[in-house]
Amino acid sequence: MKHITIDPREERAPTRGSSANPPLSLSPAKATKEALLDATTNASLYFIGTATILLEWQGIRILTDPNFLHAGDHVHLGPGVTSQRLTNPAVELHELPRVDLILLSHYHEDHFDKKVEDSLRRDLPIITTPHANHHLAEVKKGDDAFRCVHPLDHFESLFINIAGAGDGQSKQPTIKMTGMPGKHVPPGPAQVLRTTNNLLGMVPPTNGWMVELGYGVPDWGDSTFECRYRIYISGDTLMVDDLKEIPERYKDQKIDLMLIHLGGTAIPHAKAPLLMVTMDAVQGLQLVQLINPELTIPIHYDDYDVFQSPLKDFKHAMEKAGLQGKVVYLDRGDKYLFSVQKS
Ligand SMILES: [Zn+2]
Repeated sequence: MKHITIDPREERAPTRGSSANPPLSLSPAKATKEALLDATTNASLYFIGTATILLEWQGIRILTDPNFLHAGDHVHLGPGVTSQRLTNPAVELHELPRVDLILLSHYHEDHFDKKVEDSLRRDLPIITTPHANHHLAEVKKGDDAFRCVHPLDHFESLFINIAGAGDGQSKQPTIKMTGMPGKHVPPGPAQVLRTTNNLLGMVPPTNGWMVELGYGVPDWGDSTFECRYRIYISGDTLMVDDLKEIPERYKDQKIDLMLIHLGGTAIPHAKAPLLMVTMDAVQGLQLVQLINPELTIPIHYDDYDVFQSPLKDFKHAMEKAGLQGKVVYLDRGDKYLFSVQKS
């Protein structure tokens, strides 16, 4: 079983060439929402925008799909296809505190923008797809190549040991990261259309993630690991049959939280949609019903002009299905606090 060790005790800026010490923490959240059932909160999620979240637990900080572009900026999504950002991130790239790990669902500019790609320090660990690994670690040469990229295939896992956490005697705080399936393009007859095929070529392979926060003996892998809080991140996927394997594999294992990428992304443009490449409200509800998490938090829902399914549609679908009590809505800059049981 693959494993890496991360030491969160060294305060370093996530960007290269930064001489100044990074801020010790993020600027205060605009609003804070908490899990209702437990007051012993020891973990948090801060929603920065698009699919960018800062997850903190046991001193470790994981940043997902870093995108720090601003309203009016454009991303290039493929030949002749660009999209304009409509919102601002809740924090700026240079305002980030120390970050220990990047979790990148796929190599697309609205999830890893050019400035982020140029700026991040090259020894910052990145867990991502084999496709993104190729672009970040192999295509780039010399000093420009990222040196700590860990590719994960679907259902492949990596253990992250947290140096300096725990008492050194019993099990240590550990994160088990597993690649989940995802399909960013619809399967089926649409693929025979030539125009569609051109669009398909620009959509990179994508992962979802199962992030399991728990305790284990370092290096011993699955045999000692006990999960205490399980987060499923959908990634930019459509509701496809491949996802049905997730509840099969995690049968009898509670999914505490799902971070769902919505938006109903339409390419080449929301005004002339040929292809939908992320879930809209209807598919989002189907995924909630398939995964059946304790709680869902929608992300990736209104930041770009190619998003055609507004969050209110998902809200409405959840209400109609009687699931309004199982969802928390975060605005950019909001924080969600939750509790990971101790070992
Ligand atoms: Zn996206």
